[in-house]
Amino acid sequence: MDFTKEYFYSVLKGDCEIDIKLNALLNFCDDFLRKNYEKFNLKEIDCRAGCGHCCILNIATLEPEIKNIINYINSNFDDTGRRSLKEKIKESYFMVKGLDDEERIFLRKKCVFLTDTFACSIYPVRPILCRSVTSTSAERCRESIAAACFGEKLSIISNLYVKELYLLLFNTFTEYLERENLFSKSKKLTVWLKEYMECIED
Ligand code: SF4
Repeated sequence: MDFTKEYFYSVLKGDCEIDIKLNALLNFCDDFLRKNYEKFNLKEIDCRAGCGHCCILNIATLEPEIKNIINYINSNFDDTGRRSLKEKIKESYFMVKGLDDEERIFLRKKCVFLTDTFACSIYPVRPILCRSVTSTSAERCRESIAAACFGEKLSIISNLYVKELYLLLFNTFTEYLERENLFSKSKKLTVWLKEYMECIED
């Protein structure tokens, strides 16, 4: 996917705000996958709204992603939705703070953006690494999470094209932030949200 990295850089070098660049890159990836639907065997992917088994992982995110998510929340959530989200962020932050992935899986604390119907409430701006996770069997994901609670590991077959594309985007974006002397370290989604909670409008 060398040409893809070149394209990512051509967008990142552009003269516009970083959130516009990020959204342009996310749209490019969506489009790229749509155009290669057959070639990348995307029909085998079993991920969909209503599943959400993997949405307990507290994924690593970059600062521009969080700012993008906050903008989306302020434009798309109503007052009640934003208030309820802030409560969930506070609760989730204290519950999962300092836990590793295995401990979080055991706790099964779901992501603050997973709705009661197991859909992602920020789907158009969801983190890059959420996009990289796919599975050919939702049932296998369910079994794998259950097994992890007993310290067992079950393998999951994922789509490597999708994974490679989004890892490339994540790494290229991180490199760009470093080069621009911007904050380039990733943090867990819940940690960022707690830090940026005041930016969510009342
Ligand atoms: S942001 Fe969305 S896709 Fe990512 S873990 Fe949360 S609910 Fe799942």
